[in-house]
Amino acid sequence: MAKRAGRGRFKLFDSREDRLVEARMHELERIRSALRDGEFVLHYQPRVDMRAGRVIGVEALIRWQHPSLGLLPPAKFLPLAEHDPVIIEIGRRVLSEALDQLQAWLRAGLDLKVSVNVAARQLQWPGFVEDLRLQLLQHPEVHPGRLELEILESAALEDVSGMHDVINACRVMGVDFALDDFGTGYASLSYLKRLPVDVVKIDQTFIRELLDNSEDLAIVEGIVSLARIFRLRVVGEGVETPEHGVMLMRLGCDQAQGYGIARPMPAAEVAGWCRRFQPDPQWSIWADVPWD
Ligand code: C2E
Ligand code: MG
Ligand code: MG
Ligand code: MG
Repeated sequence: MAKRAGRGRFKLFDSREDRLVEARMHELERIRSALRDGEFVLHYQPRVDMRAGRVIGVEALIRWQHPSLGLLPPAKFLPLAEHDPVIIEIGRRVLSEALDQLQAWLRAGLDLKVSVNVAARQLQWPGFVEDLRLQLLQHPEVHPGRLELEILESAALEDVSGMHDVINACRVMGVDFALDDFGTGYASLSYLKRLPVDVVKIDQTFIRELLDNSEDLAIVEGIVSLARIFRLRVVGEGVETPEHGVMLMRLGCDQAQGYGIARPMPAAEVAGWCRRFQPDPQWSIWADVPWD
C-alpha cells in the first residue's frame, strides 16, 4: 500500500512491523464483529466423579463458528483477544450464556455445575466482581455454588496479590475457584497458600504419560497430596483412556475430564449424554478401595 512518508515522498511498502500491526488490527476487528454477530458459541465438556460414578458438571469452552473457516478452537483467536480489552466483553458474554444454559438445565431437572474459564485480564478489570454479582442476580435459580471459575495457574501467579482479592470477593458470593492447567506454572507451596481456591485441575500434559513416565506420576502424586493438605478438590484433565482414570483414582484423584469420558459437545447434546452416561467398569475396581 502506497503511503505518504514525509513531505512529498511516497513509500511503496510498509515495513514488516507495520504490516504485522495492521494484520493484528484487522483480526481484532474481525473478532469484535464476530462478537456483535453472535458467531461465538459454547461447547460443554462433562466432568465426572469416577469413584461415585456420576456426572458433576460441565466446562464451558468457547468456539468461533466462522462463516468461511468453520468451527475454530480458542487457540485460533483467544491469544490475540486476550491482549485486548475485547476479552472482557467476550468473557461477560460467555458467563451470561453459561448461566442461561445452566438455568435451563436446572429447570429440566439436571443436577449440574458449570465451570467457566476466565482470562487474567478479565479478573483485573475493576468491574468484574460487580458484574458477576449482577449476572448471578439475573439468574436467581442458579445457586452461586453451581458456578466455578477457572483461571490458569500461570496467569494467577503473575499477580498473586491482585488475584487474591478478586478471588476472595467472588468466593464470598459463594462462587468456586479453580486453578487450571495446574503444575505448569510452578506454583510453590507458599503461593498456593496465598491463593484462596477450591479446586486444582492437573494439567493434561502430566496425565498423558502418567502410565509410562515415572516423573509425571510423581508430579501427579505430589499435586494430589498438596491438594489434600490444602483441602482442595482435584481434577485430572485430559483423561483419554480408562487406564488414565484408574491410575488417577489409585493416586487419590477421583474427578476427571477428558476425551476418554466425553469430548466437548454442543449444549443441546448435554442432557442426552448425561442420561446415557455409564461409569467405566474399570473405575469400580478402585471405587471400593479407600486411599486414606
Ligand atoms: P482448558 O480450560 O484447560 O480446557 C481443556 C482443553 O483441553 C479444551 O480445549 C478441551 O477440548 C481439551 N481437552 C479436553 N479433554 C482432552 C483430552 O482428553 N485430550 C486432549 N488432547 N485435549 C482435551 P479447547 O476447548 O481447545 O480450549 C483450550 C483452552 O482455551 C482452554 O483450556 C482454556 O484455557 C481456553 N478457553 C476456552 N474457552 C474459554 C473462555 O470462554 N474464556 C477463556 N478466557 N478461555 C477459554
Ligand atoms: Mg479450563
Ligand atoms: Mg486446563
Ligand atoms: Mg489448557
